[in-house]
This record gives sequence, structure tokens and C-alpha cells, in this order.
Amino acid sequence: SGWDMAEILPAGLPPVRLPPLQKLQSLESVSDEDMVNCVRSNLLDSASPTPSVETLSHAFLPHKFVNHSHATAILSVTNQENGEELCKDIFGQKMGIVPYIMPGFDLAKRTLEVFQQDPDVDGLILLNHGIFTFADDAKTSYEYMIDAISVAEKKLATGKRHAFKSVSVTPRLKNVSSLAPIIRGVCVSQGERIGNEKIDLRNKLILESRTTDRILEFVNGKELERYSQAGVATPDHVIRTKNHPLILNLSTITEPANYLEHVKKSVKVFQEKYDSYFRRQVKNKGLAKTKLDSIPRIIFVPGFGLFGLGLTRNDSVIAADIAESFINTVRGAESIGKYKSLNESDVFDVEYWSLEQAKLSSSDNQPLVGNVVAITGGGGTIGNAIAHEFSKLGAEVAVLDLDFAGNEGSYFRLACDVTDPANVKQAFEKICKHFGGLDIVVSNAGAMYQGAMEDVSDETLRKSFEVNFFSHQTVMQNAVKIMKLQGVGGSLLLNVSKQAVNPGAEAGPYGIAKAATLALMRQYALEVGPYGIRVNAVNPDRIQSGLLTKEMIRSRASARGVDASEYLTENILGREVTAQDVALAFTHLALSQSTVANVATVDGGNIAAALR
Ligand SMILES: [Zn+2]
Repeated sequence: SGWDMAEILPAGLPPVRLPPLQKLQSLESVSDEDMVNCVRSNLLDSASPTPSVETLSHAFLPHKFVNHSHATAILSVTNQENGEELCKDIFGQKMGIVPYIMPGFDLAKRTLEVFQQDPDVDGLILLNHGIFTFADDAKTSYEYMIDAISVAEKKLATGKRHAFKSVSVTPRLKNVSSLAPIIRGVCVSQGERIGNEKIDLRNKLILESRTTDRILEFVNGKELERYSQAGVATPDHVIRTKNHPLILNLSTITEPANYLEHVKKSVKVFQEKYDSYFRRQVKNKGLAKTKLDSIPRIIFVPGFGLFGLGLTRNDSVIAADIAESFINTVRGAESIGKYKSLNESDVFDVEYWSLEQAKLSSSDNQPLVGNVVAITGGGGTIGNAIAHEFSKLGAEVAVLDLDFAGNEGSYFRLACDVTDPANVKQAFEKICKHFGGLDIVVSNAGAMYQGAMEDVSDETLRKSFEVNFFSHQTVMQNAVKIMKLQGVGGSLLLNVSKQAVNPGAEAGPYGIAKAATLALMRQYALEVGPYGIRVNAVNPDRIQSGLLTKEMIRSRASARGVDASEYLTENILGREVTAQDVALAFTHLALSQSTVANVATVDGGNIAAALR
């Protein structure tokens, strides 16, 4: 339970001993704790995760093969005012009908009772929930499932072609990179924009944005307010999307400057509604529960599309997937009638059921979960090490480069020439579309240019400045724009070089551009600090990488009359400094919340290059 079916492994399908679980069907009632205890103690492998809350429904049905799904077409016909009659009409004698009951022992028991009333059925329709089919061989059970869904689809095909009467909506802000960061910032800070206060790096959310004709037809519908707020398609979805999505209608906003106020207001209203739903339910049920956060997980924007929100990119994609499946369910339902979901009391029981919450991963407590980091030069040795270290801390990673040969992780890769401003702008737009915004930038790309200053051509010097100075300026400009839209601070990190403070022979073209970049770092630190955006740098030296190749090491070593390994260990510690050491300096600066305009030197110790 809780696994992605696209990549589920045997470990996600924990086997249990069947006979002891079947015995439970003779009991009148079983508490959740007893049910979990009983299921867990009958695991064949004690290290398995806890099996699904629907295990007992599978166990009680006498067939060898039991299939269960929450198929969209089935939900379109069950989620109706007259769902029960409609299903009887559509499926006739082939399927039994089970009224809505929360998953668990009671549902398993009721499922069995309905089956026993007519053991000839191919399966059971669970109102407002899904469908079971069963047989003594896998193929037949699977075919019953497909047949029943096809019958439901056929019924839906007889309905209206256009379920939603659309109105034309055109928000002024069409560009996702202008809108997503505003929404993300408001959701991260729960409506409170952060000024000089320390920013909590945790609890940030990732936004997945989607636009298709089907989504637009839905969000531009005249009755969006009614059908989108009717509630989840199947109870299980509530833990990932909450019962209601937020509608963000921006079509009346004419000035982009007013978008922020409108988003803040809308999110605030959403949160107040959620909080009062929580208060109402705990009061009615006399329960002591801790409220979950009240930030929306699905946002519908007429004229624009939808956003899925989650603690990780994966969670945001799941929320968006559920939103699309919700749209399909509602479309089907509205084509033949009116979509109707559960009452809020039933939804609350599932949302705040500990056994459902257990499906959500609890491992998301690393310090940078929900933070988006973009790394230029991310395809090289050092870039790859930086990506790896940030990823280990839970951050979502985008790597920008022209060549990803040195990049091993499954990061969001963007082909980008950092010396081309249009290219950089595009890359940052893609990051906003993919993650909703940006929190940390490691401007790491650089290239070595050498030569004695009295001989070096202007062309070489200008080329060095393009990559070793101007690219940093372009990257920071784009990043600051997004971070200011978000309004929740940020961290800009630059890979400078010891050459910026301690010139090496013939390294002028490189070092002078890097010295300008060091000044750039300090200037930005001063200018964007008041927005909570911290700017810092790392000065690495003698790190084996694509920039300092083996060949280059040999030539620099021989120029100094030492061998390559002596050259690499020529520092106070007397040992080679690695790409990982540089990466750890970057993560350290990203986590050091009161550190600004600092240069972390990573060179094993070299007093001549030490900053005073
Ligand atoms: Zn189910």
C-alpha cells in the first residue's frame, strides 16, 4: 500500500497467511489496532511494510484471485445522487452493490455479506469508492474487471459530448514562470510574506503545473465552483489532495502587480475554510486530533490550467495526476447526470485515519525537502558532486550544462549555455514550470583561460569574462527575479576561485574575471539581502575536474617542479581536496541561515590564499 504501481517491487506486495485472516470474518467488530496487529503478525516476512487497509476485503472473498481498482468510469457512475439505482441499471445481475463504508474491517465484512447474497456475481461495485472483481483464475478476474469498466464507459458514451459549458477566460499572466513562484511563495509562507525574519527552510512545497485542452475545458467551465468543490472521487485521494481544490480566478485582475494580493487572499480563504472544517469535525466526533497543514494540494486556475502541490516533486506529480483523474471522473459524471461525492464527515474519517496517513512517506524530514536547487555546470565532476550532496539533503535538483557526461544522478537536466542570456532565461522558466520556483542557485560553471597579461589577446580575456563573470551575472539576475516573486528568501552561491584573491602564474585571464565575480557576490549580497536572499561564495583550489584535467595538473605541476600528486597535496593538510569537499561547502552555506557575503575556502589550507 502506498507504492507507485508503475514501479512496484515484490517488497511492496507483502504476503500474509490467509487462514488466520479469514477467521476474522466471524467476529462482530474488530478495532483498527487489532486489525493491523492481526495482519502484521501474519506477515510471511516480518520486515514487510504494513499491508493495505483493504487486505481483509481481499481475504474474506473466497476466490483465489481478487482485483480491486478505483477506475474512473466506475466512479463516474457511482458518484451520482442516484448512484445505486444507476449501477443496478447498468450492471444488472452481474455485479453486487456495496454502499459506502470506510475501508477497514466493517467494509470487508459488508463486502462479504453482499457477495453472499448472490455468489454468482462477477464482482462488486463499491459506491463512491471503486470496484472488486474475482475468479479462481487471474485472467478471468482481470477480464471481469475490464468488462465492468467497459460497461460503465459505454454508459458514459451515451451522455452529453460536452459535459462542461465553458466560458472564455484569459488571465493576463499567461507565463507559468510569472505565476507559479507567486503561488508557491504564498503557499510556502502560509500567506505571510517573509521580510526580515529567519526563513524556515523546511515545509516548502513543489508545484507541478499542467495545461491540456481537457484541463482547460474543465477549469473554464461555467459551473466550476459547483463541480470542482463537490469532493474527492474516491476517499483514498483525500490524503494527497484534501477534499477540496483551490480555485484561483485571476481573470478579473488587470494589473500583474495585484496578482500577489489576490493569491494571498484566495489562499487565506481556503485555509480558513479548511480550519473550520477541521474544528467542526473534531467537535462533532469528540476527537483529539492534530490538524494537518491547511495548504491546498490542487489549484485550478481558469484560463491557465492546474497545479499539483506536494512536499516533493513526486508528491506534486501525484497530486496533479489525481487532479486529472478527478477531472475525468467529473466529466463522465456530468455527462450523464450530476457529480456527487461523500459528505465531509466520511471524508474526515479517512483523511485523519492514522492507517491512511501511514501511506505517506515519513522519511521527508531532511533539511532541504521542498527546496529547489539549480546548479550550473551541473554536468561536470564538481557539479555532479554538488547535485549529489544537495539531493542527499532532500532538495529537488536541476542541473544546467551543455554536456552531462559527468552527471550520474536522475536530476532534472537542462541543456543550457550559461553565456547565452536567452538560453539562461529559458532554463529558469523551465525550472519554474517543473518545480514551481527556485530556492537555491549554485552558479558553478566556469572555464580556464590562461596567458601572461602582457601577451594575452583581448579576445581570450573577453571570452573568459563571458563565462567566468557575465554568466554569473545572468544566472543571478534570473534567479533573483524568481526569488523576489516568491518572497520567501533564497540562497545564491557562486563558485569563485582562489585565483580571485591569490593570483597564480599565467592564470590572469581566469583569475581576474573570478575577482570580478567575487565583487559581484558582495554587491548582490548587499542589494538582495533585505529580501532574505543570502549570497555567498566558495573558493576551491586544485580540485581534479573537467576544468582542471589530469593533463593540466601535469603541466602546472611541472611548471612548479613537482609531480602531479605533490601538486594536488601541496596544502597545509597535505592531502588531496575533492569535488565532494567543494560540494559540502556549498550545502553548508545553503544551510547557514545567518551567513552572508562569506567566502568558504576549500583548498586544504593555503595561507597565501586565505581571506582576511
Ligand atoms: Zn479501494
